[in-house]
Amino acid sequence: MLSNIDDVTLMRVAQALGEEDAVKLIDILKASEETTDDEIATKTGIRLNSVRKILYKLYDHSLVSLRRTRDPKTGWFIFHWRLQPDQLEGFIQSQKRRVLEKLNIRLEYEKNHDFYYCCTPGCKRVPFEEAVELVFKCPTCGKPLMHYDNEKILDALGKKVDILRKELGE
Ligand SMILES: [Zn+2]
Repeated sequence: MLSNIDDVTLMRVAQALGEEDAVKLIDILKASEETTDDEIATKTGIRLNSVRKILYKLYDHSLVSLRRTRDPKTGWFIFHWRLQPDQLEGFIQSQKRRVLEKLNIRLEYEKNHDFYYCCTPGCKRVPFEEAVELVFKCPTCGKPLMHYDNEKILDALGKKVDILRKELGE
């Protein structure tokens, strides 16, 4: 019924939530009008506790709605979950905006600093001011800190920013 939600979108939602299994959950939710957490656990093989944890995360972002009934036999609550597909797009947009903000901050930082690096993998680049304090010696490996050209980083960041801006229609 909600076949218009493509896998890329689902992956993005899952990534944003930090839950890989969210993709499987949304897939199940997509395929039916309403589902219980028990059904999802059975169909996906994901532990019920994990299923509930992810469902509540989705619920926090209004990506699913929840209806509660009582089991007439056991008296326990049954939770019925329903995907809110119209919320997905808005959620992804706001995630993209957050990423864009972070990228812009990073881009500004890269633009406004001169970096120095010892060229040892695993060591960190340091901005000029810090390099001066360190007397141009890497605090980790002790090698001399050389000027580092961050043009490639700037280029890559700039491209990412452009793509996101376009996607957001800015
Ligand atoms: Zn180093």
